[in-house]
Amino acid sequence: MNILERIKELAGTQGERIAIQGSGEALTYMELEEYSNRLAAWIYRNYGQSKTPVIVYGHKNPYMIVCFLACVKAGRAYCPQDISIPMSRVNETIESVEPELIFAVEGELEAFGRPLVGMEKIREIARSFPESDNGNRQVTGGDNYYIIFTSGSTGKPKGVQITLDCLNHYLEWSVELGGGSGEKRGAHFLNQAPFSFDLSVMDLYTCLACGGTLYTMEKELQSDYNAMYSFMERADIQVWVSTPSFADVCLSDRKFNRELLPNLKTFLFCGEVLTTATAQRLTERFPGAKIINTYGPTESTVAVTEVEITKELLERTVREGKSLPVGYEKPNTWIEIWDENGQSLPEGEQGEIVIIGNTVSPGYYRRPDLTEKAFTVCNRNGDDWRAYRTGDAGYQKNGLLYYNGRIDLQVKLHGYRIEIEDIENNMARLPQIRHAVVVPTIKEGKVNSLTAFVTGEISGKSTNEFAREVKKELKELLPSYMIPKKIKYIDEIPMTNHGKADRKYLGGLVS
Ligand code: AMP
Repeated sequence: MNILERIKELAGTQGERIAIQGSGEALTYMELEEYSNRLAAWIYRNYGQSKTPVIVYGHKNPYMIVCFLACVKAGRAYCPQDISIPMSRVNETIESVEPELIFAVEGELEAFGRPLVGMEKIREIARSFPESDNGNRQVTGGDNYYIIFTSGSTGKPKGVQITLDCLNHYLEWSVELGGGSGEKRGAHFLNQAPFSFDLSVMDLYTCLACGGTLYTMEKELQSDYNAMYSFMERADIQVWVSTPSFADVCLSDRKFNRELLPNLKTFLFCGEVLTTATAQRLTERFPGAKIINTYGPTESTVAVTEVEITKELLERTVREGKSLPVGYEKPNTWIEIWDENGQSLPEGEQGEIVIIGNTVSPGYYRRPDLTEKAFTVCNRNGDDWRAYRTGDAGYQKNGLLYYNGRIDLQVKLHGYRIEIEDIENNMARLPQIRHAVVVPTIKEGKVNSLTAFVTGEISGKSTNEFAREVKKELKELLPSYMIPKKIKYIDEIPMTNHGKADRKYLGGLVS
């Protein structure tokens, strides 16, 4: 049964149960099913059978999900865009998708000359459009289900295509994570990540597949501990899905403990390093809760490995002064470590992590050049499977995968995936900047902040004024998490003997 069939089934068996709650709205399984059917019929009636993806713009409103499901039921992939993404960057995505239709559920979106359907209209169609007119054009297995845009080193985001098959294979595995589907059936799930990040696929679709209720948490709440905790308490969160960074934010307040969330059974983490310090504090505050570390890039559908961080594993890892493993591979997936010539390395040796299997993306949307660089096909057990070279460094030991940083300039900052060159190229677009080099500061094995060293036209301003002005202008081009914390004006960028910016030297200046 695929996810769409599953939601339909749940609308029949538990139609009155709340499926999603957030932004002051709640939708039941029945409403989710009926509203998305009507909206799908409307899309089909007005835009026909083309497969051009639809942009869905918004934040945490449950109608975002109505739009997602409506798009795929009308035979089109959806491309989620969060309201925190600057308009110029949304426009770049719009230019690359060339959508015939944009749903703007929340926020103020410029239409950029494309048909834009706002919340009022979405609500009206969802409630009253004749459902029978559904063209029955649902996406099928190999069709794109969603396209998620991630940071691209050229300075423009790139769209990762995920098919219905990829999503279904992923879900077969994710519903079993951390104690099996039984524990998650009907559970209350936390949604923290914006829907434009693939981590949200872990909570949204695992929750729907398990017939649970998803509680979406708005960004504003996340900067106010009291508001955030009372939201979690009211929601009575049982399955927690977030980056470790968000758990760290919560852990910095003593109130975040078993008393606040007495029914929390499972923590599911993905997206960045889970440190032993975070895992230890969680075990102390939430005795009895399972902590599951998962690993994977957007290109392989959320996650492909998992391991429970038991007390024994944690104690052993701390004793040995090592990093926590990221897990065992899921079924129909091969994790291999390759050298730079694409040769598989033996156990224990470090190289590039390569993911081969049934949840690997067909590639980047309309970017065969980028697809060719990162993806290939490998024969395993007599079948051809798609393979993705992650750019992550790692090694395997006793079937467990260990992550050991990147082989390129991608970083994870507070859980956000960032290509350093994406920032540098956008900084270089500013007229007062000649050359920008961004270096990360590492703390406890994780990137903690970014510093940009820049040369250019300071025109009598103080270095502080210059930095403030650059930051202000960058806000128009980049989401706030990509804007370097410090901007340091220098006369000249130091170069290596090979004529490249000396990142190591600059890194030494900030650590
Ligand atoms: P994203 O596509 O945003 O999910 O980012 C994928 C990247 O996040 C991976 O290629 C890794 O570099 C990093 N990542 C994902 N999961 C983990 C993990 N459990 N531990 C360390 N890094 C991770």
